[in-house]
Amino acid sequence: MKTITRSMNYLSAFKKGKDELAASGIADADTDAEMLLMHVCRTERGGRFSHPENELTDDEESLYLDMISKRASHIPLQHLTGTQCFMGMDFGVSGKVLVPRPDTEILVEEVMKDGAVGASILDLCTGSGCIILSLLKYVNESSGIGTDISEEALDVARENAEKNGICAGFIRSDLFENVDGKYDVITSNPPYIRSGDIAGLMPEVRDHDPKLALDGGEDGLVFYRRIISEAPDYLNPAGRIYLEIGFDQGEQVKEMCLAQGFKDAEIINDYSGLPRVVKAHI
Ligand code: GLN
Repeated sequence: MKTITRSMNYLSAFKKGKDELAASGIADADTDAEMLLMHVCRTERGGRFSHPENELTDDEESLYLDMISKRASHIPLQHLTGTQCFMGMDFGVSGKVLVPRPDTEILVEEVMKDGAVGASILDLCTGSGCIILSLLKYVNESSGIGTDISEEALDVARENAEKNGICAGFIRSDLFENVDGKYDVITSNPPYIRSGDIAGLMPEVRDHDPKLALDGGEDGLVFYRRIISEAPDYLNPAGRIYLEIGFDQGEQVKEMCLAQGFKDAEIINDYSGLPRVVKAHI
């Protein structure tokens, strides 16, 4: 039987949650306890400092403790709150899509830095839609579509478009299979983990992100080969490609682009100084 301690306030709830998460080896125990408290009590960040004595209702308390124990079992925070912030926008997430990662913001920023006003954009393996929807939001007069092999992922992407008030097309397609026409920019964060490395990933990723969104085949490069070899047929003159990569895949992906006839292939590092994006143009 579960024992529920009554009359928790913001501060005691935070402390209890944080201690339980830390004891279970959750790296960001403080942040996660705070995020769950905010989520359950619909309070602002820092509520434990500004209103430490505020009491949780019985419902809030049991929901909060339930979420803490789920998080302690390594269910991702975002699957509990149902949302992840990316490029300052809120994206709904579920187990059907990869949780948007801050690393991927580097790709979006790189497209924007290169100037994409008026561009037509094709985003392959769109998942939650975070790349295409943030580009369409921030790049003036841009238009574009996202594709995914998973209809369930596309449902999440379409909901995210609606939630953020953005007009985007989403089509089910195994990479270019159902794509027509040509685009100015192609983006993708394809599955890139080596099949043999999946078992060693953190449980949040290994057990809760869709395997379909992670598994890049034996050498992790299967999707890059397919995307890079077909992309020239779907790019307008001077069209550009931006691919998220694993930290040790930069040189190989860059070489693939050059071998396919792409020019000025470049590896872009993320804020941790690790290779994160390969870009090139035709
Ligand atoms: N970056 C993800 C991770 O850390 C992998 C994303 C992908 O395969 N595209 O697990």
